[in-house]
Amino acid sequence: MQNLPEIENLIKLISKLPGLGPKSAKRIILKMINNRQEILKPLVNNLNDVFKNIERCKICGILKSNNDSCNNCENKSKKYSKICVVENISDQWAIESSSIFQGSFHILGGTISDSSNSNNRENLLINSLIERINKDNIEEVILATSATVEGQTTAFYIQDSLKKINVKISKLAQGLPVGGEIENSDDGTLISAFKNRKDLVSSN
Ligand SMILES: [Zn+2]
Repeated sequence: MQNLPEIENLIKLISKLPGLGPKSAKRIILKMINNRQEILKPLVNNLNDVFKNIERCKICGILKSNNDSCNNCENKSKKYSKICVVENISDQWAIESSSIFQGSFHILGGTISDSSNSNNRENLLINSLIERINKDNIEEVILATSATVEGQTTAFYIQDSLKKINVKISKLAQGLPVGGEIENSDDGTLISAFKNRKDLVSSN
């Protein structure tokens, strides 16, 4: 292969994406180059649009257009009494596609022991969760973190952070296999985990 820094850099970048290594990165790049007008050009424009226009809401963590207000946490017309707390946007998407939960989401953006999340406690949007519960008179907070050690530690940490607030806290049933991640669970498992969720005893 000729030494083309543009291509080499692209291989390195694409290899960082989930599920892809250098070999599949090279196949993807060839496909793009061989389809300059149909794939490469619109992809460049689309990525640029996403970079410029899409961001995570600083309050609830959901993906939103940065020109619009957030229709998850700032939606004035739709009132929700429940908030479902998840680790990542992929978990929100999995729960939405199962249709088991009709309410508002709160996306932490990781777990408290996630090493990729540098000063993670501050970044986990827990303060804004507390503000949302108070401001919107939320009745129930459903902790839908993964059945991993990190997910469960995070759930416990949130439960502890909410102990002074008068809100019902529940946690997904352990129908999720141990080590089970929300985003990889099938609809049936998610539906059963929601239906059988357990109330956590409030200490106040
Ligand atoms: Zn929001």
